[in-house]
Parts: sequence; structure tokens; C-alpha cells
Amino acid sequence: MNLFYILGSGSQWGYEGDNGPSSWHNDFPLCAGYRQSPISIRTKEAVMNNDWLSPIKIRGYISPEKLQMYLINNGHTVQINLQGAPIYITGGGLKNVYIAQQIHFHWGKTNARGSEHNIDGRYFPMEMHIVSYNTKYNNFVNALDKEGGLAVLAFMFEIGEHNSNFDRIINLIPDPGGKYSFHLKIIFECETVQMDTFDLRELLPETLDGYCHYSGSLTTPPCYESVKWFIFYETIEISRRQLNAFRQSALPDDANEPIKLFKEHFRPPQPLNGRKIYCHKKDW
Ligand SMILES: [Zn+2]
Repeated sequence: MNLFYILGSGSQWGYEGDNGPSSWHNDFPLCAGYRQSPISIRTKEAVMNNDWLSPIKIRGYISPEKLQMYLINNGHTVQINLQGAPIYITGGGLKNVYIAQQIHFHWGKTNARGSEHNIDGRYFPMEMHIVSYNTKYNNFVNALDKEGGLAVLAFMFEIGEHNSNFDRIINLIPDPGGKYSFHLKIIFECETVQMDTFDLRELLPETLDGYCHYSGSLTTPPCYESVKWFIFYETIEISRRQLNAFRQSALPDDANEPIKLFKEHFRPPQPLNGRKIYCHKKDW
């Protein structure tokens, strides 16, 4: 997950070379912690639990006129910020109600890479994170570094049929190649564009009742170990052309120059260090 926008742009961490994930701990010591994310999920070693891990529920798209959605270039990837009427995340053994704060994506250059989590060694071309905060801590920034402060719903993508639900995003992201669309709206870091409000459940797979859960961290600096992770079994299908639109989107380079083609942005798996993974309705 990516919080660059919220936490300021003073640091130069990235995903390549000297700024890559293996050096993050120099500036952000927590990135060398023992409960880091992402991880490799080995389903044979997971604990099956259908009791306290109830299905995840997403509620609250009751007053869409009060919900605002903004697409933002957060410096590393494409992100949707949610404001106004809250969207509630419950279930999954979470002790409190969580409120969705933002949605963002991790992708790779080829179809065999891009997801942060892998499942039994399988990587996916893209992974979407819905980041929510624990209402116990009142707001997102306050919850960031607290125990159980955040819950992230993670969804894997597969290439298949065109998925028109994602066009509302793709049609707004800049694509200097012009192969899908060409917009200049969020070329610079922190640039935003307001979206037509939609029910975020339209982005999700049909069933949310199969997932694996573990406790981990932000997958970007400062790597706070505050995240309850939920990795869903059912994948989201989008077309190759749609995936390429994400890949070709413009992100600024180090000098904040626009129109630089996408860099890969996913952190490799971190050691499990004895943590347990709990799965609900495992049927990979
Ligand atoms: Zn993420």
C-alpha cells in the first residue's frame, strides 16, 4: 500500500536501484521489522478458520451525493481518495468498524509480475488495495501507526474480458502512448481530478467470502506494522488493453518531470517470521 501522498514527499524512496525496497530501512527502520508485508501465502501452511473469520462486508453507499471520489497521482501510482459519506468495512474478525480511505494499485511490466502478495508462488499482473482505518482511532492519519489501525482488502487481477467498471479510472489516467485514451489530468505528483461517484463494490469480484488474513505492515515506507490484511481468492478480470493503460500511465520522474512511462512498483515478499495466516473458505 502506498501512503506517499499523505506522508509528504521529502524522501526519495522508490522501487529501483539505490532507492529500492532493500534500502528502505536506512531511512525507515521499521521496514526491517518482523511483521512486514507483503508475504508469500502458502495455503497448505495456513490455518483454516470459518468461525471467527466471517465474510467481509462493505456498506454505506447510501448517500452517494455526499461521497466524493478523487483520482490522484500519489507519486508512485494511481490512487482514488474517498471523502464525505463513509464506506464501512466490517466482518473478517475485525473488532471495530473500519472506514475506507483510499484505493490504489500495484502493477508490473509483464503479466507474470506486479502483485505484491503471491499465492502458492503465483504472482498476478496487478493488485488493488482498499485501505481503511479503524474508527476507534477517529481518522486515517491517527490510525496509521496504531495496532490494528488499518485494514487493507487486497484483490488480484487476471487478464480476460474487458471490464467496463474500470473504464471510469482508465479514462482519467494519463496515457502518453495514447493507445487507450489520452488525458493530462494527473500527470504531476499530487494532482487530482474529481471522479463521478460510484459504488466501489462495482470494482470487486462477485463473492467476498473467501480470503486469507494475516497481520502485517504498510508495503511502503514508513512500513508501520499496523495492518490487518485480507487477500481475496476471487480475482478481478480486466482486458490486456486495460492493464496496459495502467502500465503506460504517466508518473513523474525524480525531477518531477511529467510524461515518464510507468515504473514498476511492488515490494517483494517479506519473511513471515512465525506469523500465522488464517484462511476462510479456502478453495484455491
Ligand atoms: Zn498498496
